[in-house]
Amino acid sequence: MDAFVQAHEAVIRLGFFLGIFAVVALWEVLAPRRALTVSRALRWGNNIGLVALNTVLLRLLFPAAAVGMAAFAAEQGWGLLNYYQLPFWLAVPLAVIVLDFVIWLQHVMVHAIPALWRLHRVHHADLDYDLTTGARFHPLEIILSMLIKFATIMVLGPPVVAVILFEVILNGMAMFNHGNVRLPARLDRVLRWLVVTPDMHRVHHSWEDDETNSNFGFNLSWWDRLFGTYRDQPRAGHEGMTIGIRGYRDTRQVSWLPGLLSLPFKGHVSDYAINRRQWADPAKGGD
Ligand SMILES: [Zn+2]
Ligand SMILES: [Zn+2]
Repeated sequence: MDAFVQAHEAVIRLGFFLGIFAVVALWEVLAPRRALTVSRALRWGNNIGLVALNTVLLRLLFPAAAVGMAAFAAEQGWGLLNYYQLPFWLAVPLAVIVLDFVIWLQHVMVHAIPALWRLHRVHHADLDYDLTTGARFHPLEIILSMLIKFATIMVLGPPVVAVILFEVILNGMAMFNHGNVRLPARLDRVLRWLVVTPDMHRVHHSWEDDETNSNFGFNLSWWDRLFGTYRDQPRAGHEGMTIGIRGYRDTRQVSWLPGLLSLPFKGHVSDYAINRRQWADPAKGGD
């Protein structure tokens, strides 16, 4: 099975991507959560353009992808799960959960470190929130992600199947929880005990700093609850909240591809990142 997965990694992932994309896109048409504020053609054209660019770039830089790294680690006997032989049924879910935790940590890190927040701003500057937002990342952040994934795989030694499973789940969940879709409130509450729902991740795309620095999870909702970064709902409500980053509202900069690519090199780093504020004015401190 490993050889099959390794040989068909790109096709498997593309197949799931297109299938899940179609389902969520249809769901957005049938039961939208919010009215979009910017032309969909403009946003989709550029967001999907960025995804295509990233896909080509990753193929050129890392042709064997994360799955290839897992196979290599297995060959070399690298990583905890190659060292301690766990049963397959246990190793696969364990590896998926650990990879999800690392992605969560990485997400907190790109918010905290000013230079990395510059890259991650590309994801947050989208003026609307829909399934294409879920795949909208600056190429440098995509490369950073891949290197962190490689390092994790070398230390963890996950089964090849777990890595492809994780990639498919992460990709599918990102489209689902960035979906501009309506879910019955009760279902949302139940699902949230296990996974990140669209309403949960939408809080993270609010233009309010404290709301943006909440709900870093992509798949499992546990990490935010466990580590104290969970926020239930946006203060202004899902229909009233503003999506994006304060001060970054010009579509040439935040919707068009050249603007997206140059965004990390523009402007100031805003309050979202660790900013070592000076509490000179006691009246303003402590918020
Ligand atoms: Zn973020
Ligand atoms: Zn997001």
